[in-house]
Amino acid sequence: MNFAKKFLNLLFPQRCLGCKKEDEILCFSCLNKISYPKASKIKDIFIAGDYHDPALRKAIWLFKYKGSTQLKKPLGEIIKKRIWEKFDAQTRNWPIIPIPLSAQKSRKRGFNQTELVAREISSNILTNALAKKAQSKSQVEVKDRKERLKNAQGSFRIKDRLSIRGRNIILLDDVYTTGATIREARKVLKKAGAKKVIGIVLAAG
Ligand SMILES: [Zn+2]
Repeated sequence: MNFAKKFLNLLFPQRCLGCKKEDEILCFSCLNKISYPKASKIKDIFIAGDYHDPALRKAIWLFKYKGSTQLKKPLGEIIKKRIWEKFDAQTRNWPIIPIPLSAQKSRKRGFNQTELVAREISSNILTNALAKKAQSKSQVEVKDRKERLKNAQGSFRIKDRLSIRGRNIILLDDVYTTGATIREARKVLKKAGAKKVIGIVLAAG
């Protein structure tokens, strides 16, 4: 922690975004209280929490848009507890592909939130296999369901076919709304020769 940050911390101590307890960004007890999603699995996609849960929603927002990257730990923890630890040892060896950001967004944000969470879960991460093409609109801006599905089409391309061909893969994304993003990524991976592709998402709803 640099001096300015230490000083700010003294004036405005970090507080849990759930219970306001000091020196925690999302405490253990609030983390455990995050609501489970209505469906914990949609087809081959496993879901950790309910996006309508205020603490989870706020955590994701701070993490993605306000640069609170320390949230990678509690958010990784909730996936580990609710999904990862229930997978068998074999599945936990499958590489994780965090849904990539477009080059433009990646430059703007400076980090890929999904990649940071993936690294909390496993050391087997593929970040050079799949790329996101530049898009005129981000999925967040497209409200209509049909439009979102259309907007996701053709949004990914394969960068490294060899790392994908014949392998089982886990896709990781933060928020599942219509499922268009993760389904599109899976389609592209399957087309490139991936064997089985399952998904993990932090929140749906
Ligand atoms: Zn708390």
